[in-house]
Amino acid sequence: MVTPLGVYISVPFCKAKCTFCNFASGVFAAERMQHYVDRVCDEISAARDVAAKSGARLPEFVDTIYFGGGTPSLLSAQQFRQMFQRLRGEFELARDAEITLECAPGQLGDETLDDLLRLGMNRVSFGVQSFVDRETAAVGRLHTQRECEAEILRVHNAGIKDISIDLIAGLPYQTRESWQYSLDQAIACKVQHVSVYMLEVDEESRLGEEVLAKGTRYHASAVPSEDESADWYQMACEQFDAAGLRQYEISNFARGGHASRHNLKYWQRLPYIGFGLDAHSMLPTDVGAVRFANTSDMDAYIDRPEAVFRQLQKKNAIEPDFDVIDLDRAFEEELFLGLRLTEGIDLHRLRAGFGETMVQDAMSALLEAHEAGLLELEADRIRLTVRGRMVSNEVFSRLLVPSAA
Ligand code: SF4
Repeated sequence: MVTPLGVYISVPFCKAKCTFCNFASGVFAAERMQHYVDRVCDEISAARDVAAKSGARLPEFVDTIYFGGGTPSLLSAQQFRQMFQRLRGEFELARDAEITLECAPGQLGDETLDDLLRLGMNRVSFGVQSFVDRETAAVGRLHTQRECEAEILRVHNAGIKDISIDLIAGLPYQTRESWQYSLDQAIACKVQHVSVYMLEVDEESRLGEEVLAKGTRYHASAVPSEDESADWYQMACEQFDAAGLRQYEISNFARGGHASRHNLKYWQRLPYIGFGLDAHSMLPTDVGAVRFANTSDMDAYIDRPEAVFRQLQKKNAIEPDFDVIDLDRAFEEELFLGLRLTEGIDLHRLRAGFGETMVQDAMSALLEAHEAGLLELEADRIRLTVRGRMVSNEVFSRLLVPSAA
């Protein structure tokens, strides 16, 4: 059986830029948005050629589509129709395909919602971040708790049974009590899926830059410590689990049968193709896989089709950076992506895919992580412990060292 493809479409438009955001997204004029949609459609039509050029196979059957952002709901119903028409022209869509739309609360018009329902959208992911108005306002989000709750209800009543919300631990002014309030509200609104992230402090966002520089404009002084955020993440793990939202990945919790089928492809190393700004792809080849990514420069993406991919200087020429994943790297990826999942890694499957020798070579690093209390090792399965999940990057780097050396 051919493994189906996941399609990611990046829609990097926002009504306002949140201060913590480090994505390639921003506020653009309507005319630019239409040019962008036209370019995404061109990219969809060129997908088969691109796959051939990179030496990869492009599955024809698509079983998940994910419109991520930015705020894809800012596009018009007509623009979505345009993209769906192109997708249906190039791919065969599964009848039960999971089709997700990321949305900021209050920014999905009735007409767009109705049209998307007709086009097959069946999952909505809201960027709530917090149910405390002071916290969302501090980072430039435009919605209130009341709007979030009304939106979840509206979308649910319109027929969407798969609703997800994002929460962030570590926002300015957040306290243990206010985080508890957000967790209580998330459970009370009975969504099927929650993603919990810890605030990233890096110079790629205005807030992160200010935290590092100790400034005051974006409320950096009110950002909780990393230890507090880590404690709150742990609270979320325990309380969501008790409420029936089982943790299936480091940042993701779902009721039975509602894990994101699209996002699971990333961790299970199943094929996906991304269209649009900064979108990433992984496609199978005869011997492994190839990864590539689109430019994060909006002007280049829209105006210079030849510059759509991130480039690599090769001898005297600049070429698309098609990153061929050989067996060693595929094995590393299996480990650090598979360990993100609560179910962990099936060692039988790993041996069948990579051979006994590679698994044995990794055993000493795995045993070390086990002795350090970071990994659970069973006869046929390895998974992160609760502590391992808290310091997952440390675990992954321990596992990568032997093969990188
Ligand atoms: S967090 Fe989301 S809505 Fe806010 S600026 Fe970034 S992409 Fe846009």
